[in-house]
Amino acid sequence: MTTKSLAKKDFATWLGRLRRQFKLLGPARQGEQFNFVALGEEEEPDFTFQNTRLSPKELVQPPSERMFQFSLDPADPEAHVLKEAPWDEAPRLLLGVRPCDAQALKLVEINFINPEYRDPWWQHGRETLTLVGLGCNQPCSTCFCTSVGGGPFNPQGLDILLTDLGDTFLVQAVTEKGAALLAEAGEAGAPSAEQLQQAETTRREAEAALPLQMATDRLKEQPLLPLFNAPFWEDVQFSCINCGTCTYLCPTCWCFDIQDEVEGTQGIRMRNWDACMFPLFTLHGTGHNPREQKLQRVRQRFMHKLKYFVNKYDDGVACVGCGRCVQFCPVNIDIRRVGNLMNAFEAK
Ligand code: SF4
Ligand code: SF4
Repeated sequence: MTTKSLAKKDFATWLGRLRRQFKLLGPARQGEQFNFVALGEEEEPDFTFQNTRLSPKELVQPPSERMFQFSLDPADPEAHVLKEAPWDEAPRLLLGVRPCDAQALKLVEINFINPEYRDPWWQHGRETLTLVGLGCNQPCSTCFCTSVGGGPFNPQGLDILLTDLGDTFLVQAVTEKGAALLAEAGEAGAPSAEQLQQAETTRREAEAALPLQMATDRLKEQPLLPLFNAPFWEDVQFSCINCGTCTYLCPTCWCFDIQDEVEGTQGIRMRNWDACMFPLFTLHGTGHNPREQKLQRVRQRFMHKLKYFVNKYDDGVACVGCGRCVQFCPVNIDIRRVGNLMNAFEAK
């Protein structure tokens, strides 16, 4: 695929051309955090961020999504008929996606697009989104993508990967779609040998800043029941306050709940994010709750990501090492520590 060099002073001109085809989204500062927002007419993405608080998952599977609408009006001949809520068909270009988050979208897709099932809401959200990634020159102290099969410049799942070389971007087209977008950057030229070398040095230095932090090599072979009953879960769950921050911010958590909301005679069917950290998540209609205890819920989160997923798909763990749960957990529960406990566990 094509790789070009684009001076930063020409970046806005390229974006101006892309704006004619896409609604542009990119990172913007919101208080002390960064999040992805729709960019205004002249607005450029703020690439001074390390990682956004919310991941791009929210742009494909929104926290609350209208699926259907219906009428309960007895005079309406179509009362009780579920009608699909209108789609927003506008193509969107997301700038500044970190490689771990692109990897997460690929991972989550397993749940929504697979041989048995195609989720039309997910499919629509993903197909209208084009991803321009930004490699991580200086990963956060909480990042560990290289421990879980990723890398700070891993292009997988992206359409374009940008490498920041100071006053220039190295622009690498990863897909055909990306190549078509790069062709619109008339100001971009062939990179010099020095620029390619600088990009390679940047990548190596970033990877060197991410030593192995969570071992996963023994997770598959661990016997399921002994690991489930391991004594360390008591210690792991002790300080958790079940706030759900970890699951809410995680780019690979995919659980949702579907609810109807009615006002007067009009109703909507919504899909909302839900999480295994909440007691209501598994509450049965009978009143029985198979995960009534906090320990059971905390264990479920880690077992799902680091054991059930591993056993079911045999394709790594369900964590991309973005570090959000590590960074924002109010009581400092660290998945790297838990993963290492699980990996090193010796069944009696
Ligand atoms: S963020 Fe921390 S305290 Fe909150 S639910 Fe997750 S592990 Fe528990
Ligand atoms: S489990 Fe934590 S580190 Fe892993 S992808 Fe989710 S938020 Fe990121």
